[in-house]
Amino acid sequence: MSEPTIAAVILAAGGSTRFGAPKQLLPWQGRPLIAHVADMAWLAGLSPIVVVVGAEAERVTSALAGRDALVLRNYRWREGMSASLSLGVAALPPAVEAAVFLPVDQPLVDARFLRSLVTHWQQHKAGIVVPVGREGQRGTPVLFARRFFAELAQLSGDIGGRALFAQYPDERAAMPVADPDILTDVDTPAAYEALLARQAPALEWGALKGVVCDMDGVLWRGETPLPGLRDFFALLEERQIPHILATNNASKTPEQYVEKLAHMGIVTNTGHVLDSATAAADYLAMRATPGAPVYPIGGPGIREALRSRGFALTEGDRAAYVVVGWDRDLTWQKLATATRLIRNGAGFIAANPDRTFPMEDGLAPGNGAQVAALIASTSVTPVMVGKPAAPLYERALVRMGTSPETTLVIGDRLDTDILGGLRLGMPTALLLSGITRADELPASPVHPDAVFDDLAALVQAWENSNRESRESALIF
Ligand SMILES: [Mg+2]
Repeated sequence: MSEPTIAAVILAAGGSTRFGAPKQLLPWQGRPLIAHVADMAWLAGLSPIVVVVGAEAERVTSALAGRDALVLRNYRWREGMSASLSLGVAALPPAVEAAVFLPVDQPLVDARFLRSLVTHWQQHKAGIVVPVGREGQRGTPVLFARRFFAELAQLSGDIGGRALFAQYPDERAAMPVADPDILTDVDTPAAYEALLARQAPALEWGALKGVVCDMDGVLWRGETPLPGLRDFFALLEERQIPHILATNNASKTPEQYVEKLAHMGIVTNTGHVLDSATAAADYLAMRATPGAPVYPIGGPGIREALRSRGFALTEGDRAAYVVVGWDRDLTWQKLATATRLIRNGAGFIAANPDRTFPMEDGLAPGNGAQVAALIASTSVTPVMVGKPAAPLYERALVRMGTSPETTLVIGDRLDTDILGGLRLGMPTALLLSGITRADELPASPVHPDAVFDDLAALVQAWENSNRESRESALIF
C-alpha cells in the first residue's frame, strides 16, 4: 500500500504579452505568483515539481528560491506552449505515474483542488482528467497519465495538451467544478484586480463546527500553562464546539494528558485526547484482521493502545505488522527483529515522523530517527500516522463527526500542525507561542489562514467575530 507518484509540471515560460507585465511575478499572498503555484503543488503532495521557464527566466527562477523545484529553461518559449510541454515531460523520472500540468496564472487553484484531480484520477482510472465547469467549459490544470507523456512531448504549436482531448474521448474523465471561478486566469490587469478582491477570506469563525488543537506550545510550554488556556476551554464549552487535543507526542498516555490539564484547572476526559500512538492503533484496528500479531517498538503507551484493540503483541517471532512509536529502550536487537519482519512482508506503521525530541539538555532522537533507521535497513516507506500525515487528523474528524472544511486546526508548527491541516483542506490558525517565530513566515511555503500571538489572542478574535456578526444582524 503506497501513494502513487504524481508530478507537477508548471508551465511558466510565457511572455504575458496581453498582460503587459510578467504574470509569473505578480504578487499573490505576499509572494510572486510562480512561487505560490509551486507551493500549492508541494502542499498537494505532488512530486517532483518541474517548472518550465522562458520569458524573464532569471527573475522567475530566483522567485523560486528555497523551493524544491526542478527549473528547466525553454529558450524557444516564443514558439508556443508545446516546446515547454515537451521539455517538462522529458524531465519526469520513470517512477512518475501521472502528472498535473498547471499554468502559472490561476491563483485560486489551491492544494485541495489539485488533490481532487488526483483523487478523481484514482477513482475513474481515466488517462486524462479535465476540470469542467457548470456550462461544460473545460479548464486547466489537467492531469495526464504516464501513457500520454510521449504524445504530449510531440505536440507542436500553442495548442498544448488539449490536442489529445479530442483524440481520446474515452480516456477523458471530466471532473465537475462547483465553483468555476476557481479556474479563472489572470488574463488582464482587471481580472487580476478582481481576483485579488476574492483572495481566500480570513477565518470564517461562524462556520466552524469543530477544533483540532495541538498541545505543546499551544496549551502549555513545559509545565507552564500559556495565556488564554482557561478562556479557550470556556469558549469551546459555551459554543458547544467539539474538540480534540491532538499530539504527535506519544510519550504520555491520554490519561496523563487529562491529569496534566486538571493541574491547570481544566476538566476534560480521554475522549478529547488523541496522541499518535492511539491513532496508530486505531488506524491498524480499522484495517487489520482482528487479533493479528503485531511487533511493537515503543513505550507502554503504544503497547497498551494496541493491546486494548485486541492485537496480539509478539516478541518478534512472527508479526503481520510492525508498529513503531518512540522507544527510549531501543536496542540493536529490536531494530534487527523489525528489519527481518518488514523484509519478510510485515506491514510497517510509524506513529509519527518527529526526528527530534526536546530534552532538558537539548534535542534527542525522536521517533522519526528510529523509523529512519528501519527505512534504511528495509528500503520500505512506512505508513505515517502523525502530523503532517493525514491519519491522525482524519481520526480526529471521525471522532468529532465534523468535516475538514469546518474544522479548525490550531498549532504552533508550520511543518506539522499547519501543513497537515492545509493538506486536508482544513482552516488553520498558527500560534506564535511555541516553535514558529513570526520572521519565519514570509519564507515558508506553508501559509496558515490566520496567525495569533497565543491562544488568548485567538479567543479574543473569535469572540470579536461573534460580536461583529451580531451587530451586522442588528443592522440588517
Ligand atoms: Mg506543538
